[in-house]
Amino acid sequence: SAEKVLQLRKTYLSPSLSMHFRKPVMIVEGKMQYLFDEKGRRYLDAFAGIVTVSAGHCHPEIVKAVNKQSELLQHTTTIYLNNQIAEYAKELADKMPGNLKCVYFVNSGSEANDMAMMLARAHTGNWDMISLRNGYHGMSMATMGACGHSTWKQPVPQSFGILHAMNPDPYRGLFGNDATKYAADLQDLILTATSGRVAGFMAETIQGVGGATPLVQGYLPAAYKIIREAGGICIADEVQTGFGRTGTKYWGFENQGVQPDIVTMAKGIGNGLPLAAVVTTPEISASLTKRLHFNTFGGNPVCSAGGRAVLRVLDAEKRQEHCGVVGAHLLKRLNQLKDKHSIIGDVRGQGLMLGVELVKDRHTKEPAKDATVEAMERMKDMGVLMGKGGLFGNVFRIKPPMCFSKDDADFLVDVMDEALNKL
Ligand code: PMP
Repeated sequence: SAEKVLQLRKTYLSPSLSMHFRKPVMIVEGKMQYLFDEKGRRYLDAFAGIVTVSAGHCHPEIVKAVNKQSELLQHTTTIYLNNQIAEYAKELADKMPGNLKCVYFVNSGSEANDMAMMLARAHTGNWDMISLRNGYHGMSMATMGACGHSTWKQPVPQSFGILHAMNPDPYRGLFGNDATKYAADLQDLILTATSGRVAGFMAETIQGVGGATPLVQGYLPAAYKIIREAGGICIADEVQTGFGRTGTKYWGFENQGVQPDIVTMAKGIGNGLPLAAVVTTPEISASLTKRLHFNTFGGNPVCSAGGRAVLRVLDAEKRQEHCGVVGAHLLKRLNQLKDKHSIIGDVRGQGLMLGVELVKDRHTKEPAKDATVEAMERMKDMGVLMGKGGLFGNVFRIKPPMCFSKDDADFLVDVMDEALNKL
C-alpha cells in the first residue's frame, strides 16, 4: 500500500529528497501522457517526471528497442567497440548545427554540466565560469556552484570560481526587457570580478526549474559575444529545452539565433533512461585527449539503443511541430485564464515548456506561494499533475510528455480554472 511505501521511504531514503504533494501520490504505471496510481486512478501528467519523459511513458517503440538490446548485451564500456554507442553518437551529432560533432555520453544533467565546465577550463586555460542568477544546472559539487538560487545550494563552500550574472528575466528582472542593460551587467561582472579572462558562460535558453523563465530576446547573442571577447566559450544547457520541446526549433538556443561551443543535454534525451550527453567541437574535445577520460556507464548499449529509439520516435511522430501547435493552443487558453483570474501574474514560455506565475497583487508581484501549493494539490485531486518552481516557488510548471494533445490541454486549463475558483 502507499502507506507502507511511505514508511519504507521515510526509514530508508534520504529525508533531503522532497516530495511533490502534501498528500503523496504513488505511481505504479505510465502510458504515454498518463500515469496510474496503485488504485488504478488515472492522472494526466503535465510534468513528465521533471521534463524527462519526452516521447511518452513506456512508449512501445522505446520499450521494444530497450528490451531487444537488454537481451543481447547490456554493458561493455567504451574499452571495446560496440555499434550502439557509435551509431547513436552519429545520429545525435546529425541533429546539431555547425561543427558540434563530438559527443560524450554521461548519465545525468549534472555530470554533463560538470564535464562542460571542465572542458571550458581545460580548453581556454582560464578559471572563471559565469552562469545566470535563477539558473539551474545540477546537484553535484561543481554544478551546485553554478546554480543561481539559495534553495538549490547546500550550505557548503561554493568555491568553484563560478560567478552569477544578472538574470535577463522579462517579468522580474531589474532591467525589464532591455537586453543591452543585462549585457552591460555581464561586461561589468567580467571587468570587476574576474581577471578579465573567463573560461566560459553557461545558461539555459529558457530557465526550467527557475519557472519556465525565458531570457530576454537579444540577450544571448550579446552575452556570447562578450564572453568570447573575454576568451571564454559558450555552453548551452539544453537539459530541458532540447529535442523539440520549444516547438519552433529542435534546440532552445536556436530560438535566440546563437551557436554554442558546447551543448549539454539530459532528461528528454532518454525518455526516462539514465542518459545524458555533452556535444562539442572536435577542437574543444581535443583538450582532454592527453589524459585518461572515462565513464563506466555513459552511453551503455541499453541506454544508447533507447536514446536512438527516442530520436526516431520524436522524428517519426513529428513531435517538435506537435509541441508548437499544442503549446500555442495551451498558451492562448492560459492567457484567457489570466484575464479571468487576477491571481495569475504572468503566463510564459513556448512549446510545451510553459509557466504560470501566481501573485497576490499584479502591481507589486508579491508571490502567492501558498495559493500555488494549494491549487496544485487540488489539481492533483482532480487528476492533473504539474510541477512547481520559480524564484519564489509560485510558478506552475507545465511540461508534459510531448504527445500531450489539445484535448489534454483543454482539460488541464478547465481543471486549473476550477482549482483557482476554489482558492
Ligand atoms: N540542467 C537543467 C537545466 C536541469 O533542469 C537539470 C535538472 N533539473 C539539470 C541540469 C541536472 O540534471 P540531473 O538532475 O540529471 O543531474
